[in-house]
Amino acid sequence: MPALFAETALLPEGWARDVRLEWDASGYITGAVPNAAPEGAERAAGPVVPGMPNLHSHAFQRGMAGLAETEEGGDSFWTWRRTMYRFVERLDPEMLHAIAAQLYVEMLKAGYTAVAEFHYVHHDKDGQPYADRETMSEAILAAAEEAGIGLTLLPVLYQTGGFAGAPPSEGQRRFINRVDEFLAMVGELRRRHPEIVIGVAPHSIRAVSPEGLKEVATGQDLVHIHIAEQMREVEECLAWSGRRSVEWLLETCEVDHRWCLVHATHMTEAETRALAVTGAAAGLCPTTEANLGDGFFPMAHYKGVWGIGSDSHVSVSPFEELRWLEYGQRLLHRRRGVVGGGTALWQAAAAGGARALGRPIGALEPGRRADFVVLRADLPALWGKREGTLLDAAVFAGNRNPVRDVAVGGRFVVREGRHESEERIFAAYKRSIA
Ligand SMILES: [Zn+2]
Repeated sequence: MPALFAETALLPEGWARDVRLEWDASGYITGAVPNAAPEGAERAAGPVVPGMPNLHSHAFQRGMAGLAETEEGGDSFWTWRRTMYRFVERLDPEMLHAIAAQLYVEMLKAGYTAVAEFHYVHHDKDGQPYADRETMSEAILAAAEEAGIGLTLLPVLYQTGGFAGAPPSEGQRRFINRVDEFLAMVGELRRRHPEIVIGVAPHSIRAVSPEGLKEVATGQDLVHIHIAEQMREVEECLAWSGRRSVEWLLETCEVDHRWCLVHATHMTEAETRALAVTGAAAGLCPTTEANLGDGFFPMAHYKGVWGIGSDSHVSVSPFEELRWLEYGQRLLHRRRGVVGGGTALWQAAAAGGARALGRPIGALEPGRRADFVVLRADLPALWGKREGTLLDAAVFAGNRNPVRDVAVGGRFVVREGRHESEERIFAAYKRSIA
């Protein structure tokens, strides 16, 4: 049985010494025992922590990160979206595969071991379905397989250009499906890929009808939705329904632990409390929310489940994502430790991310996937730090990537900071972007 011996490892109950981690041939942890003997196990080159699930990704947007920073006459989320639609016009299945594979390699090297891909570009450039309607989804699946990252696929239902059934714009024509077409696509993908968790993602309450939302969310094990990222959406929702976005969703659907509400930035205190008791995960994407000028998630009032996503991929690092999350709250409330230190941040985000991805990941304990990260204890920022202060240093005290080795399902895909296929995947990415 494969085994790893770590002098220090982060287990669900906290930091432990001399941990022996064992897993079976299919990549599930069978033992995570502290104060154990090293015999017969590979020695970890540094402290071991659970791999981080990335709960929100639009992979293709990695290819346009940095292309939407200077718009004439002032930038906003909505001008950024125009640039994103222009980029989408050029995207074909081969490009999507190349960009996603490159992104997933970068995620793995940064400590993300699984990703939930919120995938909405379904059709060909003219808005017509591909002969094989699942072509673009297959590009994502192939990219994840090639990079070796864990995947939860979330095909997106997109119906309208705004509230009250506003027609979609030209820029949205590659996203649009009827509910029956969408459910057929999800069914076909599940038939082809029974080993992959495939949920559903009604894009947002402005891009699906109330009927469409209820129809695709009912009976599903996993539902992700964008919500209340921008005040404009909340104002339009109020004008349309008399309710704020999150308030409306909680009244309209049976939101529970199967749900992930991505962003949920603009909530009243009552909405924040109501969301927390549902058991749904809040999908926080602090670097993207900062980049787009969205606002701060009301973390100080929130006692529920949450995880992190890199969303538009202006940053691909769980350390930076957690740092921004905590620093945003510190700046807002003018106090420290609003969410917590490095260990508390890492464990909460890993557990919430696992919930949002619908997979047994996010902690080093029997029954979960052997997804783990070996940190570089020899970095100056981490040198001499032990247990409790290790992740404090990794999150708050440096910009150098502290990730050395990464295993997904017990298989090492990153060794000494290098991904096993990074040259080939980067070469394909360069050809695509060129
Ligand atoms: Zn998003």
